[in-house]
Amino acid sequence: MNIHEYQAKGLLRSYGVPVSDGRIVFRAEEAKTAAGELDGPLWVVKAQIHAGGRGKGHFKEASAGEKGGVRLAKSVSEAEEMTKQMLGRTLVTHQTGPAGKQVNRIYIEDGSDISRELYLALLVDRVTSRISFVVSTEGGMDIEEVAESTPEKILSFSVDPAAGIQGFHGRRVAFALGLEGKQVKQCVDLVNKLYKLFVERDAEMVEINPLIVTTDGDMKCLDAKMGFDSNSLYRQADILALRDET
Ligand code: ADP
Ligand code: MG
Repeated sequence: MNIHEYQAKGLLRSYGVPVSDGRIVFRAEEAKTAAGELDGPLWVVKAQIHAGGRGKGHFKEASAGEKGGVRLAKSVSEAEEMTKQMLGRTLVTHQTGPAGKQVNRIYIEDGSDISRELYLALLVDRVTSRISFVVSTEGGMDIEEVAESTPEKILSFSVDPAAGIQGFHGRRVAFALGLEGKQVKQCVDLVNKLYKLFVERDAEMVEINPLIVTTDGDMKCLDAKMGFDSNSLYRQADILALRDET
């Protein structure tokens, strides 16, 4: 079972993982208030569908405008306008298939100043049943694409469940990502928290793409995709409650 980006970010936030401030919008009338509660000067207006590749996607309806499902706004009214354009419209990405998916929720969040876009994922290794980390400096791209064209830019390792997550795991990730200074500590902290979340919530997959370094040199999760083991969800009532048909 997959959850939306904004729901995944709520979960990340509850584990103390750095994400941007944001507001979910179900109806166009809510957009102005939602955007107004954020600081600016940049707002990011993000279509919530159960598929990736939204930024490079396109809408079927001309009334939704030319741009994709992730739009940058420079004012509250622009964020409101973009929300109205996308709500109820059909977003097509390389992951939705040609039919696309209807956009019924919009997440408006604070825009970040990005220095680097990185990739970090946790998944269950099917062969060993261990939790594996997959890490790459090539964030913002599909990992399948990176695996195809530049596999040497991907680091992957699994964690011994008996010993659990250790400081050296986080430092290995930081080294692979070329992090420095305060970012190393932030990365170790991030890796520990993501592992904890993954285990405690019976996750199958957590993908942070992109994980960014801001121009201030801080780590932040800018996109989050999470999948959960349906057979374990009887233990996870609050995650089960996030399920919806769209
Ligand atoms: P998708 O992977 O579905 O295309 P993302 O959330 O990864 O959607 O957004 C696509 C791109 O948009 C990111 O790689 C990043 O460059 C940019 N982006 C997303 N959220 C923000 C944000 N809050 N601030 C600045 N740029 C963003
Ligand atoms: Mg993404």
